[in-house]
Amino acid sequence: MAAGPGLLQLPPGERAILDGYRGRLHIAPTEAALGEARALIDRLARHQAEEAASRLQPATTTDGHTLEIAANVNRADQVPRALEQGAEGVGLMRTEFLFLERDHVPGEDEQFGVYQAMVQALGGRPLIVRTLDIGGDKQVPHLNLPAEENPFLGVRGARLCLQRDDLLLPQLRALVRAAQTGPLSIMFPMISTVDEVRRLKARLAEVQRALGLTGTAIPVGIMIEVPSAARLADRLAPHVDFFSIGTNDLTQYTLAVDRQHPQLAGMADSLHPAVLRLVADTVTGARRHGRWVGVCGGLAGEPLGAALLAGLGVQELSMSVGDLGAIKALLRRHGLAELQDLARQALDMDDGEQVRALGARLRSAAEGV
Ligand code: PEP
Ligand code: MG
Repeated sequence: MAAGPGLLQLPPGERAILDGYRGRLHIAPTEAALGEARALIDRLARHQAEEAASRLQPATTTDGHTLEIAANVNRADQVPRALEQGAEGVGLMRTEFLFLERDHVPGEDEQFGVYQAMVQALGGRPLIVRTLDIGGDKQVPHLNLPAEENPFLGVRGARLCLQRDDLLLPQLRALVRAAQTGPLSIMFPMISTVDEVRRLKARLAEVQRALGLTGTAIPVGIMIEVPSAARLADRLAPHVDFFSIGTNDLTQYTLAVDRQHPQLAGMADSLHPAVLRLVADTVTGARRHGRWVGVCGGLAGEPLGAALLAGLGVQELSMSVGDLGAIKALLRRHGLAELQDLARQALDMDDGEQVRALGARLRSAAEGV
């Protein structure tokens, strides 16, 4: 929570106002402050109800540009709620949970069952499954991987998979088989070099050949979450079908701020212009080769973030289920041209605070907060 150790010293039952919009916790508020907070909660509830009412409509801007809106969902049983909340597909299925929730490495058939259930739950809608992103903040004790001095800069994600056929191949086999049952795209995480993509695609092609399942073309994408990948987007694009930007990691690697560091939480700001410039680089590189770009990091689910990403040319936003309605409504209230103008200005700011100030130009629902 990055609220500091003082939080643990509060007496039980202490009243407080938690303002998640501004990242503030007000301890022992006055009656007047409590009254204001209650009024704000009521306004927010009305605002959210209004936005939720239109959640099944597409995210089409006032000038007729439609963004694809997907949800970050890991399990088939969570899909109905995501669809009900307005998701048009799943833009990020993190597969680490398959390993984190078990005390063993799930085999090919076990994984196939999970992916196939996901395809079925989506009933023909798009699904992007990300291959294992283990390492960094996602440690799996039963894999007994060697401890590293700097796990975020270590053998993580695609790097680990390229060293461990015993992890990569059963997953690819399960994914290739599940892709025969409906739409499924494969996405590789933590890509930092073109060579990694070449090698991973070669592994995938071998698996398809070995299974005799070369007939179904499976779209392949990579996550852009390392600055080198963003800067080399035009070199990476010819090798893949799409990019999905992981703004959580892209932010920590761009700003050299550990995404989990309690004292630096305020600095891990995905709205920082340095991060936004890398998003712009990614879109430019992808466009040169006719590839599309999505974002599945937390920035996609923040109102100003989504507005800027749309303005920068991102075509798909994948987010937590709870954010879907508000983001779709926000995009429908604006024209792409004005979001492009906003994004241009954001790229020329000094820091995240200045970018955040641009948020005042966004229109809120009938009753703003
Ligand atoms: C990201 O880094 O933004 C992302 C979506 O991946 P994860 O949060 O799982 O690292
Ligand atoms: Mg990531």
